[in-house]
Amino acid sequence: MIPFFPPDLFEVDRKAMLDILYQLGTSQDEKLILGKATAELERAIAEQTGARHVIACASGTGALTLSVHALDIGPGDEVVVPAFCCQPVASTVANLGATVVFADVDPLTMVMDPGHTESLIGDRTRAIMPAHVFSIMADMPRFREIAERRSVALIEDAAVAQGAVLDGLQAGRWGDLGVVSFFQVKAFGTAGEGGMVFTDDTGLATAVRQLRNHGQDGVNRFLHHRVGYNSRLDEAIARFQLHRLPGFAGRLERRAQIADYYSERFSGLADRGLTPPPAGRNGRCYYVYSLLVERREDLRAYLTEREIGTHIYYPVPLPRQPAFSAIAAPGRSWPNAELVSARNLAIPIWPHLSDAQVEYIADSVCEFFE
Ligand SMILES: *Cc1c(COP(=O)(O)O)cnc(C)c1O
Repeated sequence: MIPFFPPDLFEVDRKAMLDILYQLGTSQDEKLILGKATAELERAIAEQTGARHVIACASGTGALTLSVHALDIGPGDEVVVPAFCCQPVASTVANLGATVVFADVDPLTMVMDPGHTESLIGDRTRAIMPAHVFSIMADMPRFREIAERRSVALIEDAAVAQGAVLDGLQAGRWGDLGVVSFFQVKAFGTAGEGGMVFTDDTGLATAVRQLRNHGQDGVNRFLHHRVGYNSRLDEAIARFQLHRLPGFAGRLERRAQIADYYSERFSGLADRGLTPPPAGRNGRCYYVYSLLVERREDLRAYLTEREIGTHIYYPVPLPRQPAFSAIAAPGRSWPNAELVSARNLAIPIWPHLSDAQVEYIADSVCEFFE
């Protein structure tokens, strides 16, 4: 059985985690949150990405909340987010009292459509929030250009795309603020929760740092500059991420190699109703490898029979979710979000898959279409 969500993602790091917990639990001078390891991880990621400021926090959702809040977005403001995505892109905006405006996605890449996004920008729009999805980064050069020309902020949801590079610039660096997630199955996932905000803007960085810890500045305890949150990173997770960091590039490369192999094997199946993500390395992230399949349920059943786990992401677009249908603009439709909700099917791309397993998965997909 090749499970879609592998239970052994951190098997090789088990001893390291136990050592970390023992050290933290027995040392006299260790803080359990926002301590030395968190600061060291922030420095290491700043060095690796070139971001001027890196602020670690409790989750990707926390990172989005801190970003939206740092821009002082609230009631009366609008933020444009993708209609087909993870729900935090909408909830973090709605929870601050701002209006969520859903943009449709591209029918092939499944990321937010820049043209539709721009058509939704109005007087009240304060920010646009493209998200990288599955295997492909959003068209950040265009979103950057639109944000600058229309004078709105750009929040880049790079939750799934840490380490990906588009035109020489890393995911998370394109936005005024960029966020990543350490949720276990994400590119730089961890054995727990965590996230980060990247920004080059010192004012925004100060706001995010204060907001993550009840509005305090890290020096004066119980002096609250802002109404903030508890969105802090555990030292145990920060240490674990420092332990995992040297292997990160290698794991990303392994994912990309598996994707290259899949793309080569599936390139001839377009006329049979299977569209793989566009091949190549520029702007690719390979969080998962998501196919678009007309006969999705049949392929899924076929792979299940062959003991290959698959996953369907976001089967119902955000504007049709009970949580958001009341706030989604009436009369508007998101046909491409509907289409990709009905057609996407992700197959395993974990870095610790063996070559034989990868070959077996590709063979099985190809056999279905023969
Ligand atoms: C996972 C994810 C998030 C949220 O990250 P968490 O760490 O799970 O809170 C936000 N946006 C996207 C696109 C995601 O995939």
